[in-house]
Amino acid sequence: MERRTFIKQTSVAALSPKAKTQAGGFKPPNIVLILADDLGYGDLSCFGSAISTPNLDKMAREGVLLRQFYSASSLCSPARAAVMTGRYGVRGGMAGVLWPEAPGGLAETETTVAQVMKSVGYGTMCIGKWHLGRPTAFLPTSRGFDSYYGIPYSHDMDPSVLLRDKETIESPVAIRSLTQRYTEQAVRFIERSKDSPFFLYLPYSAPHIPLAASAAFAGKSSRGTYGDVVQEWDWGVGEVLKALQANGVDENTLVIFTSDNGPWFQGSPGRLRGRKGDTFEGGMRVPFIARFPGRIPAGKVVESFATTLDLLPTFAAMSQAAMPSNPLDGVDIGPMLRDEKEAVERPPFLYFSGWHLQCARVGRWKLHLARANSPAFTPEPKEGSYNLRLLSPELYDMNADPEEAEDESEENQKVVAEIYAKVMEMLPGLPGEVQAAWRDTVNRRVYPNEPGAWPTPIL
Ligand code: MG
Repeated sequence: MERRTFIKQTSVAALSPKAKTQAGGFKPPNIVLILADDLGYGDLSCFGSAISTPNLDKMAREGVLLRQFYSASSLCSPARAAVMTGRYGVRGGMAGVLWPEAPGGLAETETTVAQVMKSVGYGTMCIGKWHLGRPTAFLPTSRGFDSYYGIPYSHDMDPSVLLRDKETIESPVAIRSLTQRYTEQAVRFIERSKDSPFFLYLPYSAPHIPLAASAAFAGKSSRGTYGDVVQEWDWGVGEVLKALQANGVDENTLVIFTSDNGPWFQGSPGRLRGRKGDTFEGGMRVPFIARFPGRIPAGKVVESFATTLDLLPTFAAMSQAAMPSNPLDGVDIGPMLRDEKEAVERPPFLYFSGWHLQCARVGRWKLHLARANSPAFTPEPKEGSYNLRLLSPELYDMNADPEEAEDESEENQKVVAEIYAKVMEMLPGLPGEVQAAWRDTVNRRVYPNEPGAWPTPIL
């Protein structure tokens, strides 16, 4: 029976995963999603780093490595919102970083991937940094996770608290042992969940600052404390993979590893331009490895691009769960991971800085339309922080020039016009704040003699 027919004829959401196994021969895969915090594109040895990451390198040899994978934001909270919802963070009110005292969090109208997995009977746990709202109504256990263990925001924020579900169990948190403890919790979750489908979301706090490695790893790398922290975290990933094998679920578990955004003060974006907070590639392009023995090929390197927006639709498709009712910005990349298709159809991928739209990617091209003001880009920077329309949009070929070094807009005016038109088509469907921010960008007159020839404002 075709999968589509099977879904049509079966009320999938109503069946437990075990019932489905018996009825349709479908065994729901376990899913483990490991996220690093502020780990750069160039920080794994399989992505060219001098830091030793044998466990991630092995995972890449046994799975698929994507060289053009994006976080949907270069900042923690909106990046995590996209991971959780398959939609741009701005749609759920997440444009910037949430502070511990913030009264809200990810909008309750958003459906999380944990809720999607629960709808088909998965056991769910979040271990690590949440950063989508501190009040109880916004914590993981209120957003589809059966249980939670971790720091609900960045570990450089006060108050320093470690939660189990909704309760504080430690304050201040002993940062040095955090990677060890997150790993231990993950291994225990796998042990107790092995008999039924599970979704484990493991967003480590490393290697975000402040940096601290445990005694076993301190001073062991060739790259200072940052290297020590990355190596300890790589060890943690290895322990999780070992636990899957030890519990006999290795063959039926998809493991995905990526990062929430580019490197901050330390770490490396490789040869990419920019860092955390930027919409240049270094802020948003992150390492990605997927491993699923027998289901996705081993040792394959993929050049087509994909994003964190794609995780929810991919997991939903793999587990035969219904998609959320909110329209998604991501697409199912299962066919790409399984090597059935070289690339998947998708709408333009948008790069936001806060509420501000700055760039769009379509196929191999990335178009820069706007950029935050700074002395480097404006002849007479005014007071305050705002977005500036680029008088001359910049077009970069992501296949040939990931460093964003050579603007090719002049030779490719048709491509520029086409991408711009597509972005303008999408704009009315984006939140009011994004539209208002774009109007502000377009209408701001910072150049005394701005010719106003490009791009013609349509709002
Ligand atoms: Mg981060």
